[in-house]
Amino acid sequence: MKPIHMVDLKQQYLHIKDEIDAAIAGVLDSTVFIGGPQVKDFAKNLAEYVGVKHVIPCANGTDALQIAMMALGLEPGDEVITPSFTYVATTEVIALLKLKPVFVEVNAQTFCIDPEAVRKAITPKTKAIVPVHLYGQSAAMEEIMAIANEYNLFVIEDNAQAIGSDYTFKNGTTQKTGSIGTISCTSFFPSKNLGCYGDGGAMCTNDDALAEKLKMIANHGQSERYYHDMVGCNSRLDALQAAILNIKLPLLDSYIAARIKAADFYDKAFAGNEKITTPFRADYSKHVFHQYTLILEDGDRSDSFRNGLVTFLAEHHIPAMIYYPVAAHKQKMFAAFGGAGFHLEKTDWLTQRVVSLPIHTELDEEQQTWITRKVLEYVNK
Ligand SMILES: *Cc1c(COP(=O)(O)O)cnc(C)c1O
Repeated sequence: MKPIHMVDLKQQYLHIKDEIDAAIAGVLDSTVFIGGPQVKDFAKNLAEYVGVKHVIPCANGTDALQIAMMALGLEPGDEVITPSFTYVATTEVIALLKLKPVFVEVNAQTFCIDPEAVRKAITPKTKAIVPVHLYGQSAAMEEIMAIANEYNLFVIEDNAQAIGSDYTFKNGTTQKTGSIGTISCTSFFPSKNLGCYGDGGAMCTNDDALAEKLKMIANHGQSERYYHDMVGCNSRLDALQAAILNIKLPLLDSYIAARIKAADFYDKAFAGNEKITTPFRADYSKHVFHQYTLILEDGDRSDSFRNGLVTFLAEHHIPAMIYYPVAAHKQKMFAAFGGAGFHLEKTDWLTQRVVSLPIHTELDEEQQTWITRKVLEYVNK
């Protein structure tokens, strides 16, 4: 059996080695390392794939979130509603810009922000909502957009984990995640569903004026060369990463299919087990399984039961991860932002029970048979 990794970037690379190596050699040969045709092409290709008018590439997903919030003209003290159950980047940039993070609950089935909790958290100072499409499944965008329209709020989709996912509205129309909010942000961190070989990120929007502003902010607030109209930053996707992404983007749908196949295998193996809840698949969303995350239930001792599984699997050379052991409102980082004042029972309940198993494009049945056997051995003992 091949060694099991959370993500197997090596095997994935070997399948496309010739194209990737040629693309990299092409950039080296051109010596156009910053900007240039590869970056331009990628922005165009991604816009077509996601179904948006504008894609603005940048240095990473965290920058994308920061630049998005800067472009919307949010002022210090403005409130931004965010789930607490997310990767730190989502909430960190809110604090960095001196905005006020308002942490709300997630739906315990989808792990995504709960629209009713959003509605309850709105005050006259609320300016934006940041739904996170966690683990590869879309947040309930139709409900969130309705609330945003009612209260005139911006919506920044954190699409870092769900690129390629579809959202189906009640009238039957389908859109890709990342094409629904005011702006969406994504990351090409190597382990993401569409990963480059270093850092990368992008913002998407259908708004022409916002697209101009996002572009300017990512480039030192520059309108014309050496004319700087607003305070910005320096955030670029480099040409080597763009060249790699131009090879990988056409493969994204096949990568997603491989992840869904692996998720189906796990679902089947764990079906009916009392202590295991397999990932919920909302009927409005195509789950693209950036993570395959179980809820392990064992009453009051769920936390140690779950941690015991991670240790047991490690003893059998199976990696497993807890995304995320500490919710944002309980991080020291947010103590000065009143984090401890938020009481989020469902979020706390989830942080004690979730565990993510290996999932990637190269996982085979032999590996999955071994993983599921060991998980069931631990859970049923
Ligand atoms: C990865 C990720 C980010 C940040 O992306 P980077 O490219 O690492 O900066 C933001 N939000 C979520 C939900 C992520 O998973």
